[in-house]
Amino acid sequence: MRVLTVIGNRPQFVKAAAVSRLLRDAHEELLVHTGQHYDDELTTVFVEELGIPRPERELGLGTGTNTEQTARMLAALGPLIAAERPDAVLVYGDTNSTLAGGLAAAQARVPVAHVEAGMRSFDRAMPEELNRVLTDHLSDLLLCPSATAVANLEAERVAGRVELAGDVMVDVARLFQPRAAADDAPLQRAGVEPGGYVLVTAHRAGNVDDPARLERLVELIAGLPVPAVLPLHPRTRARLRASALLDRLDGNPGILVTPPLGYLDFTALLCRAQAVLTDSGGVQKEAYLAGVPCVTLRDTTEWTETVEAGWNVLVDLDATAAYAALERTPPPRRPDLYGDGHAGARVVEALATLI
Ligand code: UDP
Repeated sequence: MRVLTVIGNRPQFVKAAAVSRLLRDAHEELLVHTGQHYDDELTTVFVEELGIPRPERELGLGTGTNTEQTARMLAALGPLIAAERPDAVLVYGDTNSTLAGGLAAAQARVPVAHVEAGMRSFDRAMPEELNRVLTDHLSDLLLCPSATAVANLEAERVAGRVELAGDVMVDVARLFQPRAAADDAPLQRAGVEPGGYVLVTAHRAGNVDDPARLERLVELIAGLPVPAVLPLHPRTRARLRASALLDRLDGNPGILVTPPLGYLDFTALLCRAQAVLTDSGGVQKEAYLAGVPCVTLRDTTEWTETVEAGWNVLVDLDATAAYAALERTPPPRRPDLYGDGHAGARVVEALATLI
């Protein structure tokens, strides 16, 4: 069978790493990169490190608002799908590329498979939530990372077939975390000791696009009682510059501000951190898998099981709550919440049922 896969941003490169190679062993894949993320730090480095095939098509559609991006992607993907006539279109996660790929395929009457289906924060103010809900309702095959996701889709009575595949990011984390955890070099380069720092990431629109919330975020990070490593997403860097707030972090002796890191360096720093502070979806889950407590800089999460298991605390931008969360001792148990590390194989198997 021929599968046209649409990816476009950093976490989708990570997710594709669990599927693309396996898919190509059995079938034909055309990997299309929309260019939603276009910096090498957010894309090329993952192709090299994670062994993802180089995308066959690069659409270069990175800039603009969410609606402009989605519209331009639809306009480009429609004719591409019509010309290629794949047996299925595969999309991942919750980005503009996910929605555009899914909708363009559905309109061309090509079956759509959605990996990471059924995740919900129940916060429609998040652009990602709109992308998730809409993509799930136009998909033919909904591949869920968790039982909660399956239950969410059953409650919404989606039209497509729902399967519990497990989480493809678990496959990648299981493969790379042991190696990364044994690598001291990224910690030495960052000038930090194992367990003696926190790793911080923040880039959600809800935290960085509103100047008042951005200032609260900066105050929270600047007031951390332990050294922090902060790989800065280009979007966040741009917003900090525009609000003249970058110096409060970059000039702070307790904070190491770096460019976005490659997956292996980032994973090394994640595995040895005292805790992770983040508003990322993927990073919350990777912290759990690495046995590192997570403090989430949002008031909702799709990864609710990590909170219920006691390894993740939602603090929004409340600095006092964030510092208190750092004092918590994580529980002794860390059950396998998101599958056994073979989700990629299940995705490939399920795709074959679409022809
Ligand atoms: N990541 C990375 N380098 C960084 C920050 C994150 O490799 O400097 C990886 C991280 O390990 C995870 C993915 O990028 O696999 C998460 O991406 P992001 O936070 O951009 O997306 P989200 O999961 O929030 O959609």
